[in-house]
Order: sequence, then structure tokens, then C-alpha cells
Amino acid sequence: MATPPFDPPTAEDIRIVSLQLGRPARDVIGISARCVCGAPTVVSTKPRLSDGTPFPTLYYLCHPAATAAVSTLEANGVMTELAALLEGDVADAYRAAHEAFLADRESIEHVEEIAGVSAGGMPTRVKCLHALVGHSLAAGPGVNPIGDLALERAAWSPDVCECADYDAEPANSTTDGSAPDAR
Ligand SMILES: [Zn+2]
Repeated sequence: MATPPFDPPTAEDIRIVSLQLGRPARDVIGISARCVCGAPTVVSTKPRLSDGTPFPTLYYLCHPAATAAVSTLEANGVMTELAALLEGDVADAYRAAHEAFLADRESIEHVEEIAGVSAGGMPTRVKCLHALVGHSLAAGPGVNPIGDLALERAAWSPDVCECADYDAEPANSTTDGSAPDAR
């Protein structure tokens, strides 16, 4: 797990994230969480992309098995269940997670268009479990209470490698050098 300042991503990190996303990964500033095998699970991107677009989601869940497991939670109505927990101490902790997320991003760059906007529905709603789980994986347990609960409920865990064979992929795309069509 990692929050800013990040170690610079390696060329191998960028290659794997590009395969995971099915498109070239751009403006990556760090790998904020990894599978037990070392492959990236959460990627951190510049708060303002090189084309000028603001990018609020500092912790982006990029691992296909993780995103699929979290999508299953969303499809099963878990967002509503978790949102119902946002009272008292949990609500306070969730607001603190929002502030921690913003502080992390501001430490990299202030982007006016997204000032005060974090991710996933924080600080008062639950809108995207992928963003919240990404935050939990990057920040470690005890920072984002809703992300932590979602990760506990997910069928995927960073402690059990479910990675694709990333070394097998480039052989399929030697003709044009691009990532294979993953979706
Ligand atoms: Zn793995």
C-alpha cells in the first residue's frame, strides 16, 4: 500500500497496468497497491492529465479480478447496505477518509475544477465501491471504513494472486505493438 509521495512506476508496472486496463496507461505517477505477487492492483494518476483533463480518482482499481469482484458487490445491492451504516462514528470516519484522500491528492497537485471532490461518493454517499476499495487498498486498513467493509465482502483479496499471465499477452500483439483488445 502506498500514499504520496509515490515511488516512480517502472516500465513493467506501466506495461501490466496497460494490459489490465486494455488501453495504454498514461500519466501514471505511482502504483498505490499491489497483489501479493507484486502486480499492480491500484494505480495513481496525475490529478490533471497531460491533455488538461482533471482526474479526481487518485486511487484507481485496475486489477481485473478485483474490479469484477467489486462489480458483483455493487450488483448485489451492497452499496445500499453500506450507505445505511453512515451514521455516528462510521460517518465521522468516512468524512475523515474523504479529507485524507483530498490531502493525498493536494500533496501532488491542486486542481481547481476538482477541489473538494474526492471519489466514490465521499464524504456522505456511497456511489462507487471500486473507488472506495481502491482507497482502502492504497491507504491500508482503518482509513476508509466503507472501502474496508467492501473489501472484506469481496470474493477477491490482494493476499491471493488471481493475476493473468501478463507475460503471455504481448505475444498476441507483436504485429502492432499495442495491447490486445481486452474489451
Ligand atoms: Zn498477482
